[in-house]
Amino acid sequence: MGRTKKAGRAGRFGARYGVTLRQRVAKIEANMKMLHKCPSCQTKAVRRLSTGIWTCRKCGHTYTGGAYVPATDAQKILRSFRERSASGRT
Ligand SMILES: [Zn+2]
Repeated sequence: MGRTKKAGRAGRFGARYGVTLRQRVAKIEANMKMLHKCPSCQTKAVRRLSTGIWTCRKCGHTYTGGAYVPATDAQKILRSFRERSASGRT
């Protein structure tokens, strides 16, 4: 196999699926492997344990989140909605 061009980590898919999809996969995978911020101790030490399960290496806090990111967009929207209704009029 020759060198993998733009696709990066997703280059393992070869020429299949089209470059846009492969770039999208590479982006998600890079984000997934990054250390994420712990909602408990605020340290960037959270790693993906398994699909949807995230654990903090510093305080040991384990929680469920998105399959590929610790907090899904839906969770973020929910949280901001809860904060708004808690501080504002009820
Ligand atoms: Zn923590």
